[in-house]
Amino acid sequence: MFGSLMPKEGVEMSKKCTVGKCALCGRESIELMQSHIIPKLVYTRVKTYQNSRFRNFLDFNQLYQDGEKKPMLCHECEEFFSKYEVEFTNKFLDKYLSNNKQTLVPQYNGIKNYILTVSWRILYDDLFVYNSFSDTHLRSTYEFLEKRLRKYLNQIRTDNVEVCAADTFEEIKGESFGEMIALYEEAVFNSLLESLKNIESYIFTLKELGYSDKVITLLDSFILGYSYNSGDNRKFVIFSMYKGLVISTIYWNDRTIFFPGDLKQFLLSLNCKKTLKLSLKQEIDCVLSQIKEAYPKNQEILNSNNTREKLENRYKNAKKQK
Ligand SMILES: [Zn+2]
Repeated sequence: MFGSLMPKEGVEMSKKCTVGKCALCGRESIELMQSHIIPKLVYTRVKTYQNSRFRNFLDFNQLYQDGEKKPMLCHECEEFFSKYEVEFTNKFLDKYLSNNKQTLVPQYNGIKNYILTVSWRILYDDLFVYNSFSDTHLRSTYEFLEKRLRKYLNQIRTDNVEVCAADTFEEIKGESFGEMIALYEEAVFNSLLESLKNIESYIFTLKELGYSDKVITLLDSFILGYSYNSGDNRKFVIFSMYKGLVISTIYWNDRTIFFPGDLKQFLLSLNCKKTLKLSLKQEIDCVLSQIKEAYPKNQEILNSNNTREKLENRYKNAKKQK
């Protein structure tokens, strides 16, 4: 999980160059850019002041210059994604923001591909940077989902980058029965085009999820994103939230057999938009309580003499963003 809140003072990121394996195209020993998990174009729109900086909303001591960045993608993959980001801000986000954020504006053809580029980045970051779900049986489902999204994204690219399908399965020699099955499944996976079966993307507003104006205003300066699953293991959700928007990708997992304890559990396990909304609401409620819990400590950091002085100087001549 990652997330940040708007304000304020911070330190410069060092600009060292990293060489490694690109997370998307899989090319090795390539220069990696400092990639944003949530696109920079979105971050600049969440800012209230031109020269303000982001802080981790659970720990104000952690600062980001202009959003959280990590060495992740090569130059070509960054370019490939930026095309979708520009389209999203032009055709959707800016229209929505100038619409006073009350209602969603019509979604253009292809908005799904933008959502998937962000969802994949969040999931990749959760799995391979934060090493989330490492001690649970759910990790393999998340890994499979990451692989499917990556495959789809590489499938729709039109540049000439040669994608390396180098996965760990290549190391399996096929000695045991389980390994042979894995090899077979891998061969089938590689031979088929990714169809995104059981994977859907939706955009909701916080209002649509039932939040009051007061809560929406409180969350207005927050930006966050992570992946989670519903308790019944049937919904694997990746979402991001900012400016009253909740942008989500869901994988309806029909590989598990689920025996609901009662009617309510049964209804919640159904694959429909309504149950997705309920599950997102539960998750955001949980975020709200984390914010509440972290509040006293964060307030202390902001109130410390050093920070206060820096902030006052910073904002004395700062230009307010519209
Ligand atoms: Zn790449």
